[in-house]
Amino acid sequence: MASAPRPPTPAELAANLARVEERIHRACARASRPRESVLLLAVSKVFPAEAILAAHALGLRDFGENYVQEMDRKAPQVRPLDARFHLIGHLQSNKSRRAAELFDVIQTIDSPKLARRLAEAPGRVREVLIEVKLSEEESKYGCAPADLAALIDALRALPALRLTGLMTMPPWSDDPEAARPYFVRLRELAQTHNLPQLSMGMSHDLEAAIQEGATIIRIGTALFGSRRRA
Ligand SMILES: *Cc1c(COP(=O)(O)O)cnc(C)c1O
Repeated sequence: MASAPRPPTPAELAANLARVEERIHRACARASRPRESVLLLAVSKVFPAEAILAAHALGLRDFGENYVQEMDRKAPQVRPLDARFHLIGHLQSNKSRRAAELFDVIQTIDSPKLARRLAEAPGRVREVLIEVKLSEEESKYGCAPADLAALIDALRALPALRLTGLMTMPPWSDDPEAARPYFVRLRELAQTHNLPQLSMGMSHDLEAAIQEGATIIRIGTALFGSRRRA
């Protein structure tokens, strides 16, 4: 991996967090939702363990990482924290055992095979979400909507795992409104299958996500700054 980007100073991080909190409060107020109905998941990928420690010191308790290997490196420093770690990147089934040890929540289940591997793995992970692929982009992982019912059935047959919701990542666009149809679609799928958690919305489109019912927003850049190296 290229050298890490410059992590924010504690003062920068505090200011970024205040701005993000203000955006969340305003979006919740507009949607007539309580602030507590939205979990702020701090996406710390690429940044060093120190950034997680600094965010934890400011009160954040849920962190998102994309890669098992990267979490493995940070784990000695951050796993002792009173915090929950969510895997939000694609998981290959040959890494499922290690992922089950490192993460509390895995948001990217996309096949019955991966679900079975995780259920068999000893470890801490018990809560899972299904990543749904709602666009035709080739590079995106996730379960196709047509396969969702079967995957939900497979997960509900595995008592070791608790399926709580759906996650999606719309195609990237500068325009936050471009993501809204994907957010609406994810909410409809979750309602159909009676799943309470909706993980959707990132730094640039959290307002639209909250308006459409997000219960977990995944925020990286707006908290920690650009991931491009300094
Ligand atoms: C990196 C990442 C995010 C955070 O994106 P930002 O635009 O930096 O807030 C959210 N979700 C997933 C799945 C990611 O990979």
